[in-house]
Amino acid sequence: MLPDIQRLIELQAADLRLAELRGRLNALPAQLAAVEKRVADARQQIAAAKDALITSLKDRKKYEIDVDTWKEKARKYREQSYEVKTNEAYKALQHEIEHSEKQMAEAEDRLLERMVAGEEYERQVKAAERALAEVERAADAERQTLGAEQSTLRQDVAGRESERQQIVPAVPENLLHSYEGIARRRHGVALAEVRDGSCAMCGMLITPHVVQELRRADCIELFQCETCTRILYYVERAPAAAAASADVPSSPAEAPAGED
Ligand SMILES: [Zn+2]
Repeated sequence: MLPDIQRLIELQAADLRLAELRGRLNALPAQLAAVEKRVADARQQIAAAKDALITSLKDRKKYEIDVDTWKEKARKYREQSYEVKTNEAYKALQHEIEHSEKQMAEAEDRLLERMVAGEEYERQVKAAERALAEVERAADAERQTLGAEQSTLRQDVAGRESERQQIVPAVPENLLHSYEGIARRRHGVALAEVRDGSCAMCGMLITPHVVQELRRADCIELFQCETCTRILYYVERAPAAAAASADVPSSPAEAPAGED
């Protein structure tokens, strides 16, 4: 394998790690915004419950006045009824009294209903306040966690960036240029290992001649996948089956066979 390819493999690993770290870093503001939204929603719940309570108190005042007004009217008609001279006028006043009393009773019903509703809204305000306290406690913890994660990620990114800076000068400029161009077009992955005669990234079959060239220790040619254009490389591995049945066991640190 070309030593330059070896550098590119290191560069690729650094870049993928960097992309992953940056992705997590970029996702943090949205996570933080979601926390703030939960707090804002909990506050909104309190505001809504308070509005309902205020409306119900206003209604209550209005129905109290209604009750008093109809009560007063009934009283006046009753007073007048003691002074009327004709039976007809008396009957008419009796009718007014009945009407006023009926209105008064209805206003009393509405008032009672508002009083019950008001108690319910008071309970809702208290429940919303308790919920907000809970949400704020959780939000404080989440803000702290996210803040700590952010500073850790920033440190990791800085570390990986300097690591990358150390690899880059060792890669020839034209090769770096190709690498970066392919990476841009191929979701950040510019290299592809050849496995079982195929490009491990796109699955395209690689001609045996190219595979043979790539396997040569003194290979100095650069090969790209004809389909995905990624720079190809080949890593010699002991076949899993051979390693399992070998008389001399391979490194015990090796991962168990069977993985793809
Ligand atoms: Zn490919």
